[in-house]
Amino acid sequence: MSNIKYYDLICVGTGFASSFFLKRFLEKSKKNIKVLVLEKGANKTHQWYMDNHKHHLSNGKNGVFVNYTEGYNKSWTFNIGFGGGSYAWHGVTPRFDKNDFKLKSTYSYGLDWPIGYNDLESYYDQAEAIMQIAGPKESYAERTTKYPLKPHKMYAFDKILKKKFADKFYSVPSAKPTENVKGRATCCNSGVCRVCPIDSKFTVNNSMMDVYNDPRVEIRFEKHVTSLDIENHKVKAVNYLDKEKVEHKAYANLFSLGANPIFNSHILVQSQLDNPLVGKGIVDQRSTVCEVDLDGIDNVGGSTNITSIGYMLATDDMRKKYAGAIILSYTIPDNIRLEQGKYLQRARLVIQFEDLPQEQNHVTITDDPKVPKVVYLGHSEYTQKGLDKLHSNMKTIFTGLPIEKVTFDKELFGGGHMYGGTIMGTSKSNSVVDINLRSHDVDNLFVLGSSTFPSTALANPTLTITALSLRAADSLFKG
Ligand SMILES: Cc1cc2nc3c(=O)[nH]c(=O)nc-3n(C[C@H](O)[C@H](O)[C@H](O)COP(=O)(O)OP(=O)(O)OC[C@H]3O[C@@H](n4cnc5c(N)ncnc54)[C@H](O)[C@@H]3O)c2cc1C
Ligand code: SF4
Repeated sequence: MSNIKYYDLICVGTGFASSFFLKRFLEKSKKNIKVLVLEKGANKTHQWYMDNHKHHLSNGKNGVFVNYTEGYNKSWTFNIGFGGGSYAWHGVTPRFDKNDFKLKSTYSYGLDWPIGYNDLESYYDQAEAIMQIAGPKESYAERTTKYPLKPHKMYAFDKILKKKFADKFYSVPSAKPTENVKGRATCCNSGVCRVCPIDSKFTVNNSMMDVYNDPRVEIRFEKHVTSLDIENHKVKAVNYLDKEKVEHKAYANLFSLGANPIFNSHILVQSQLDNPLVGKGIVDQRSTVCEVDLDGIDNVGGSTNITSIGYMLATDDMRKKYAGAIILSYTIPDNIRLEQGKYLQRARLVIQFEDLPQEQNHVTITDDPKVPKVVYLGHSEYTQKGLDKLHSNMKTIFTGLPIEKVTFDKELFGGGHMYGGTIMGTSKSNSVVDINLRSHDVDNLFVLGSSTFPSTALANPTLTITALSLRAADSLFKG
């Protein structure tokens, strides 16, 4: 008799995508099932992150992940370790709007998603309840329920923008609590949120340990999944390397990949999944900073570091011609203006543009099975047109406001909002996974996270990642 141990489910990664999928899977499964979780990173403590937080992000600069595209200065930012990006993120959690799911039919650009806002609305509610999101009454997306927690307070300049753009500017939905919630204290606006000193923002590690402490779950750290063994349209086993680079196999009936767009793609390219779209169209939102020196206004009063979100650069008229953007008021407390009497008279806005996936930007392999190569040849023309209009559009927004000087950063950055590589669609001819994030080619494989998003949309991705993961797990239990 074979000694091979078979699990009911093997999950790859412990970030948002895997954790929300596994949470729902455990809630609905029998008591005697067995789950194996394979995590590339280590199980670092909060103190470790506190001591190392400036250095732990795995981007091109510290060599953990290298972008090999010569001549294009693009780093891809993410966190490797238990809890994944929850130990890096800023907790900004807007929903996608109904038009974000219908980019092609509404604006004639990009792709439509095979699902719409209505398919996700109840899952957005559930994800917001799990993360205890703070948010306002009004919302860009059409919501029918209230946020779990009261909204964050705005800074003085936010209030000025709110007055001018009442229906387009809101307190930002945030995973930084405005009151004490289980295991997390009220956010006190210290502004170093990648690793919150008081562990206030939502992380997998402070709020989802019930998932990983469940006796049905076995977790192995520092195990890098390299590929899947696929036979007759089924995954038979997952291949992984340990710290000493020794190869192992693990077997299960069902598999889920939640390793982020680069690594989901890399694992599937190395598995030779029979789908030419795997790894194609990897994309990142394009952001830039606009610093606003105010005229006689002390920019104080906000209750966290990212307080507001504006949709003034995302009207339907604009998005029919060029990429839309959201404006995030990002007034970190150390954003001091070095002029006597004017120290606090500065606002900082991050402008975050949507981008369209392009086939030439893709993930491929290298000689090292642990190291993917991302070929990135730049953003879309649609986004460039939006960037070209930025200064004149912002001038219109600022007209009549108490402003001395506006300075735009020349640099663009990605913000760690990656998308694509295994997109969702109606058939194998246009996508890698179906509407429930199940592979078109392989019956027992779910691919989770923003690698499945057909377009970037305006909003930050993570709330939508978590809602989709809950929905994907639910699909397993529907008749
Ligand atoms: C600085 C920063 C700020 C951000 N702020 C926001 C924000 O405010 N709002 C927002 O919506 N989003 C934000 N994001 C993006 C957010 O972090 C990601 O959208 C989110 O983490 C993606 O979740 P995920 O589970 O798909 O992937 P991840 O969270 O990246 O998790 C992937 C997991 O898989 C593991 N893994 C990777 N490869 C392998 C492998 N081969 N084998 C085994 N395990 C593997 C990783 O260690 C990790 O645990 C931010 C990102 C960064 C970097
Ligand atoms: S602003 Fe401060 S308290 Fe709030 S989440 Fe960020 S680091 Fe934590």
